[in-house]
Amino acid sequence: MFIAHLPAGYLTARAYCRHAGITPLSTIILAGLAGGIVPDLDLVYGALVDGGRVHHHRYWTHLPLVWLAVSAAALTLCPRASGWRHVTTSFLLAAWGHLLLDSVAGDIWWLWPWFDVPFSLVAIPALHAHWVLNYLLHWTFVLELAIVALATWMEGARPLLRRSRWVPS
Ligand SMILES: [Zn+2]
Repeated sequence: MFIAHLPAGYLTARAYCRHAGITPLSTIILAGLAGGIVPDLDLVYGALVDGGRVHHHRYWTHLPLVWLAVSAAALTLCPRASGWRHVTTSFLLAAWGHLLLDSVAGDIWWLWPWFDVPFSLVAIPALHAHWVLNYLLHWTFVLELAIVALATWMEGARPLLRRSRWVPS
């Protein structure tokens, strides 16, 4: 995914608030935005340290087992009745959503370390000289555009990012 992670995190946070029956505070929405993109921080590390030699989905930030441990630790440490629990849950759900979306047309090692095999729903054929064009001109990019359009429309119809309450009680 190229452009859909941030809006997908937004949609995840909105859906979580609706499902949990809670007021969608700006903090919860921002946590969803952050969780939607945080696995891709490894792109910075890969570019600056590894020089792009390692597929960034092989870093720990894209490993489901790591997110399972992070989720278990965070939800254990965060008090169940606190508003911060919703912030944490929004962040974690968006991060898991990132891994799911990356599994559409990118490789995610869902069963690592038991099986060192990447999973991808579809394979993007190398039809164009530049690899980015292969992704941008593939039908899966329509899915990304749909996610961006839906998030833009929802925020326009019922804005949440500019709500006055920020900190949960
Ligand atoms: Zn990613």
